[in-house]
Amino acid sequence: MQQALALPALLPELLPAPPRHPVVGAQKDIRYYGTVASGVLNSPETTGMSFWSINPYIGCAFGCTYCYARYAHGFAMERTGDGGRETGGDTGEESSPGDALEELPSWLAFERRIFVKRNAAQVLRRTLQGRGKSLGAVQRGEPIVIGTATDPYQPAERHFRVTRELLEVLAEARRLRLVIITKSPLITRDVALLSRIAQRSRLTVQLSLITLDRDLARRIEPRAPTPEARLRALRRLSDAGIDVAVNIMPVLPGITDRPDTLAALVRAVADAGASHINACALRLRVTSRRRYLPWLDQEFPELRSRYERAYGSGYQITDRYREGLRQFLKRTCRTAGIRYGSPEGRTFEGPADAQGSRAWKEGTMPGALLREASPHTTSRALPIMTGEEETEDRSTAAPPAAASPPSVQINLEI
Ligand code: SF4
Repeated sequence: MQQALALPALLPELLPAPPRHPVVGAQKDIRYYGTVASGVLNSPETTGMSFWSINPYIGCAFGCTYCYARYAHGFAMERTGDGGRETGGDTGEESSPGDALEELPSWLAFERRIFVKRNAAQVLRRTLQGRGKSLGAVQRGEPIVIGTATDPYQPAERHFRVTRELLEVLAEARRLRLVIITKSPLITRDVALLSRIAQRSRLTVQLSLITLDRDLARRIEPRAPTPEARLRALRRLSDAGIDVAVNIMPVLPGITDRPDTLAALVRAVADAGASHINACALRLRVTSRRRYLPWLDQEFPELRSRYERAYGSGYQITDRYREGLRQFLKRTCRTAGIRYGSPEGRTFEGPADAQGSRAWKEGTMPGALLREASPHTTSRALPIMTGEEETEDRSTAAPPAAASPPSVQINLEI
């Protein structure tokens, strides 16, 4: 009998393989999977961005309707798809990330099936202690941006503390250029650590905030912290001497682009101590369209035809709109006494949409996707938003839903 019990120890291959992605936690309808990262400092070459990046998690519980990062999660889920069920580590739950592909549409799996890079800090420490190309580049001050594809202070961080551990490693280094992008006041938990980092390296926290309207924010970013909580976090970080910028990204045409509400937002973040503001209009790449357009149909159906005109032939809204927005915000920031645009003259935006680029090359254009996605669309190539179209829309569009804010085009106001 004793021999039989000892056998698996002698022949470990007889033991079931440990789960590759054990369930390490659950929170209401969200399930967390542990994953072992082989590298965490992503180079500009691998991401197509002009800076280094770190994402402690894969997937994001905040579920913003415009989020462009869902595709990265899809790739990760596919990579785990070995079909086998896995018995949960910390929770004992039996599941597999691959199953989630079956259970949930991919846009929702991004929000509800989240991977936790539990060894991220060890991997980063090894990288920074090595002699590789990455170390040289980041030591020369090339920016490292934390949170380009998921929020590093999403609810998972409260329990898993992966971001905190990464920051503890980064606090040991000197003369780095660090940027942290988040919507979460949980970042204030680490205010002492951030202050320590700021003494040795150049640190900017970029808080994302697109509206002060709490109800509107809830509709657009269903599980993200309230605007008031983000403003309080901004003030707290700023009072601690940490450089904080606010990203008004993205400005949603017809929804959050009212000049009076944008001006109020600029004043509020200036008063709360932000050093500067970055902004850009919504970009609708393929993966964002799949979530955003059905949401738009549900929440703001009267805007559908305008979006067709604005985004029917590409992922960017027109030059005229973007330039109008830029000029308006520049003026508004000047009046409010806050800088528009980073002192470095660059923004740290998320990854290029690999699927989007591929779709363009293969001819499955975002415009085609737009037409597929809605019965309201027309095949006519529509011009972009201009004053004339606004007039036309007023006469033909369905009356706005009672809860919708009036839609005012920036271009009409300047
Ligand atoms: S917080 Fe950022 S990463 Fe998370 S869902 Fe929103 S836009 Fe996407």
